[in-house]
Amino acid sequence: MQLNFYAVRGAITVYKDDRESVLRKTKLLLNEIIKQNRLSHADIISIIFTATKDIRSVYPTVAAREMGMTDIPLICCQEMDVEGSLALCIRVMMNIRSEEHLKPKHVYLEGAVSLRPDLASRYTIAIDGPAGAGKSTIAKLLAEKLNILYLDTGAMYRAFALQVLESGLDPEVKADVEKVIDQTEISIKHDNGLQRVFLNNRDVTDEIRSERVSKAASAVAVIPEVRRKLVELQRKIAATNDLVMDGRDIGTYVLPDANLKIFLTASAEERARRRWSELKSKGLDVDYGSVLSDILKRDHNDSHREFAPLKKADDAILIDTTDKTIQEVVEQIESLVDFRRY
Ligand code: C5P
Repeated sequence: MQLNFYAVRGAITVYKDDRESVLRKTKLLLNEIIKQNRLSHADIISIIFTATKDIRSVYPTVAAREMGMTDIPLICCQEMDVEGSLALCIRVMMNIRSEEHLKPKHVYLEGAVSLRPDLASRYTIAIDGPAGAGKSTIAKLLAEKLNILYLDTGAMYRAFALQVLESGLDPEVKADVEKVIDQTEISIKHDNGLQRVFLNNRDVTDEIRSERVSKAASAVAVIPEVRRKLVELQRKIAATNDLVMDGRDIGTYVLPDANLKIFLTASAEERARRRWSELKSKGLDVDYGSVLSDILKRDHNDSHREFAPLKKADDAILIDTTDKTIQEVVEQIESLVDFRRY
């Protein structure tokens, strides 16, 4: 068995020098290095810590010991005190071994991001496709397996549509929708991996799932000003997180440099059947024909709008989910993830 040896760097800042903060932040940094590099404690040869001279409350090595790294050689040193350097900073150099060839992921968190802004680029997976192709279920499972964030961009368009409906305006009328753009603040929070969507600071995560909102979302999504506003937010989130993002224009417009692009599709009949049985299982009495015609209308809106229409990116991998299980699709995408870059 051939072993490869690497060194991983990392750093984090604390807000104040007290024992609890130093230990908590050091654990956060070590856990993040371990997670992002897919390490176990057995892969770690040794760790060197440095702390700036304003940290005196506790040795960062104590955090590593408390995490169970009792057999790993550790040492703490004081960082050079260069004039103007970043204050209250803990740095780490972790020496590791691996049977695989990897590209080590160096981890700079909080104030320490400023030390290596060149390393701030993220691993992004773009999943696009029409309504009912299985995007959100698959993206969510994939993100969970890879331990990265899942961002459902459709939820943002839905929240926007809710604002239009609640203002008594018509989502099909461009001038009506444009009236509320400046008063609409959409934000996203993640709670234990689950996305919550806020409209003007109100949690609307559950409200936006109605069929009325679905139709309105597809109508407001054709308006360029709405898209620009929401795309800005999507790119901002992608700049600071490794993530799986699903939508209609992620690979073509929002993240043209995504590391992996997938275009999921399925026949319109199969997509309508899936939506129909989902609604049925929620106890709603819906007619299959009307679900199919809604799907066809949303397909038409999404693919015929002028600005950033639904379209497979040239470098996206096409997966037809009509005859595949969710598990099969997740595994297929997982096999395409380049773990050396991830
Ligand atoms: O995916 P979901 O059904 O939640 O999306 C709601 C609507 O938002 C879609 O019908 C689509 O018209 C629009 N959308 C979009 N671009 C995205 C995500 C969703 O136009 N990136």
